[in-house]
Amino acid sequence: DRETQRAAVIAAVERVADRMTAEKTYLTELDSAIGDADHGANMARGFEAVREKIADADADADPGDLVKTVGVTLISEVGGASGPLYGGSIMSASTELADGITAESSVAFAEAYLAKVKDRGGAELGAKTMVDALTPAVHTYKKSIETDDLPPLEALAKAVDAAERGVNYTVPLRAQKGRASYLGWRSVGHQDPGATSTLFIMEELLATAEE
Ligand code: ADP
Ligand code: MG
Ligand code: MG
Repeated sequence: DRETQRAAVIAAVERVADRMTAEKTYLTELDSAIGDADHGANMARGFEAVREKIADADADADPGDLVKTVGVTLISEVGGASGPLYGGSIMSASTELADGITAESSVAFAEAYLAKVKDRGGAELGAKTMVDALTPAVHTYKKSIETDDLPPLEALAKAVDAAERGVNYTVPLRAQKGRASYLGWRSVGHQDPGATSTLFIMEELLATAEE
């Protein structure tokens, strides 16, 4: 019900904020190889702000409203390339959760989120961005629920595996979007920071769902 869903969103935010703070150094290390060494700081600062905002949120805010707050807060706190991509896309996709979080609406959310990221960033699969983790994850999640009729928890576990393969797939690619693209062929051999943070967020969503 609504209270359970609210509690789940809050628990997910706590987990993701803890994880981003724990991975701050690692994500920044990845970004120092092919970017400007701020992705860890950006994500940790963003999700710590989200943690505070969600704690202050109205007791009668719907689960979808809470997710929207996550997006709005990330937009205002993160900046750079990843702020509008993460924040704007979460904000926009949150409308899919207006009638609550169900297996069906979570698929719609995931698809809308991926579509927004691609629309805003203009990156296709293979450009060495977060899209490379997100695309296989969203497709796997949708297929697991709609075609294979798996329970959401199993579908999410499969989506996490797909995201992990997507992260590994970024390593040999040449970056075509964002700061890493300035390096051209020198970006080859490095793992994309945004694909990696996308995987970490999904792992925490799965851990929340498993609780
Ligand atoms: P910035 O590059 O502005 O410093 P961050 O370091 O926080 O921002 O985020 C970098 C990550 O953002 C990259 O690793 C990549 O995954 C993602 N990214 C950058 N540009 C794009 C884009 N056009 N489309 C999708 N993702 C992108
Ligand atoms: Mg950066
Ligand atoms: Mg930056």
